[in-house]
Amino acid sequence: MQNIFYITIFCLGLVLASFLNALMYRIDKEYKYPEIFIKPSHCEKCKKQLQWYDLIPVLSYIFTKGKCSKCGKKINIYYPISELFLGISMFLLYYTSSPWYTYVILVILFSLTYFDLVYKAIPQTPTLLFLLSGLIYTVINSFLNHELVSNALLSGLLLILGITLLLILMYGFKNFKEGFGFGDFLVLLTLSMFLTTQQFWLLFWISIFIALIVSILGFITKKYNRKTALPLLPFFTLGYIVVVTYSEPILKYLSSILIIL
Ligand SMILES: [Zn+2]
Repeated sequence: MQNIFYITIFCLGLVLASFLNALMYRIDKEYKYPEIFIKPSHCEKCKKQLQWYDLIPVLSYIFTKGKCSKCGKKINIYYPISELFLGISMFLLYYTSSPWYTYVILVILFSLTYFDLVYKAIPQTPTLLFLLSGLIYTVINSFLNHELVSNALLSGLLLILGITLLLILMYGFKNFKEGFGFGDFLVLLTLSMFLTTQQFWLLFWISIFIALIVSILGFITKKYNRKTALPLLPFFTLGYIVVVTYSEPILKYLSSILIIL
C-alpha cells in the first residue's frame, strides 16, 4: 500500500515539473492571463501544436528520441532531467517525512533555476519575496519557541559578507557593482534561515563540490571556457534536497572519518 503512495508522489513530481517548466517558459515569453494557463503547448520551431503523447513527462522524450515529432527539432535535455529531478526529490521528501515547507522551498528553487539556466540570473521580485518569507518564518518560529530561532542565519550572513569581500578584492568595486548577479547568494541566505548551521555548511560544500566537478567536466569536454558563468542555483537546489533528506547520516559519516583522521 505504501508503495502506491511513493509511486504517486513520484509521478506528481514529474507532472508538476512539466507544468512548472511550461509556466516559467510562458512567464519568460510574457504570455498574458488566461493564455498563460490555457493555450496549448506548441513546438518552438514549427509552431505545430503538441499532442497528448508529446506531453508525458520523461517518457515522451525517450519515445521521440528527444526530438519534436513533427519537425525533428531537438528538445532541450533540461526538460526530462528536471522532471526526473523533481519526481525523485518529492519522493525523497515524502519518504523521509520532511516538513511541508520543504516542498514549497523545492518548488521555488526549481522555478528560479529555470531563469538561472537561461539568463545566468534570477528575477528580483520572487527572490526578494523568498527572502522575506525566510524572515517571516524566523520571526514566527522564534515567537512560538519563546526564543530567537535564527537557525544558520548568522552563518549565511557571514558567508555572503565573505563572498562579497572576496569578489570586490578580485574584481574591484566598480566591476562588482555592475557585473554580478547577486540573486544566487540571496537565495543561499534565505535557505540559511530554514536550515541548521550544520545543514547549511553541508549544503554549501556539497553544492560547491558538485559545481566544481561539473566545471572540470565542462573544461575537459571543451563546452566551457574561462568566461563561462556557471549558474549556481541548480547546485544549491540539489544540495538543499540532499541536506533536508539525508544530512544526519552524512554528518555522522563525516564525523566518523574525522575521528579516524
Ligand atoms: Zn517542431
